[in-house]
Amino acid sequence: MSRKPVIAGNWKMFKTVPEALAFVRDIRQTIVGLEHVQVVLCPPFTALALMSDALRGSGISLGAQNVFWEDKGAFTGEISPVMLKDAGCSYVIIGHSERRQYFGETDEKVNQKIKAILGHALIPIMCVGETLDEREAGVTEKIVRAQTAAGLDGLAPEQVAQMVIAYEPVWAIGTGRTASDEDAQAVIAYIRDIVREQCGAAAAGNARILYGGSVKPGNTAGLMSKGDIDGALVGGASLKVESFAEIIKKTSEAKR
Ligand code: PEP
Repeated sequence: MSRKPVIAGNWKMFKTVPEALAFVRDIRQTIVGLEHVQVVLCPPFTALALMSDALRGSGISLGAQNVFWEDKGAFTGEISPVMLKDAGCSYVIIGHSERRQYFGETDEKVNQKIKAILGHALIPIMCVGETLDEREAGVTEKIVRAQTAAGLDGLAPEQVAQMVIAYEPVWAIGTGRTASDEDAQAVIAYIRDIVREQCGAAAAGNARILYGGSVKPGNTAGLMSKGDIDGALVGGASLKVESFAEIIKKTSEAKR
């Protein structure tokens, strides 16, 4: 089954609007002709609307880093799926480990958010992954099973087929440590098995499952040579045009 690879840049709380627009201007010139890879940029909320204008016609999609599940209401400080659509988003990162760790995001909230955004035809990028303690305790599979199963709970197979899931071992995020190509492939194949058990073969065959955690130009080709790894969620290396473009090029070569 052929799945279009995804390279998504998670900018976290980096870049002002002028910095974001300068990045868009440069990346548009750098990755011409790489339509084989779906590129997604996830800037801070403040840059979404103007980036949406700047990205028009580029083939690059826009994503948000979080969302609230209600459409509108008295929820001070929150942003709704309707507002993200309005700002030009097509993807939303849900359940990033930093949100789970610092903002009390539980599996139940992740599931609630996924249901809300699918209802507005936005594509979730659902993050799952174990901490270092959990990996050392040998419970990686148990953790990713629990997070994946809870995140997908109650979704229709056709919805899951459109989703993006990112396996991000927490110990590899922003640390310079990467899972080996083999370990990343093994956990991602395991996640695909969970999707198959819960949602059927078509959903498992179509959902894109990414690796995330210190992806850099130098480790991209190895990771992308693995059959179940459909791309990457990139943090630090997505902040510079040169490194992000290089990751996109290497993914395109590996998945051609
Ligand atoms: C991330 O934040 O999703 C991530 C993978 O970060 P980094 O690439 O910096 O490890």
